[in-house]
Amino acid sequence: MAGGFENEEAMKLFEKCPLCGGEVVEKEVEKLLKGDGNTAIVKVKAEVCHHCGERLYSPDVIAKFEDIRKRLKDGKIENFVEIGKSYQAA
Ligand SMILES: [Zn+2]
Repeated sequence: MAGGFENEEAMKLFEKCPLCGGEVVEKEVEKLLKGDGNTAIVKVKAEVCHHCGERLYSPDVIAKFEDIRKRLKDGKIENFVEIGKSYQAA
């Protein structure tokens, strides 16, 4: 896996976890987003720390989260797919 930055995958944001210094690996994760009582789940790539489990997101992904939260608040969810109801348990 040597050879610099010529591969097609995006460059890693972090070589090490900024919290604990552990190894980070890129994974697809599900992120739960909330806005005004509505909830959306989005699958994104994140770098996840092996050691402490911290998830690190790229600025693009964070912008996407903000967009989705705003859509939830504004009710602009036409392109979201309903997958079930959410409940809060006591
Ligand atoms: Zn860590």
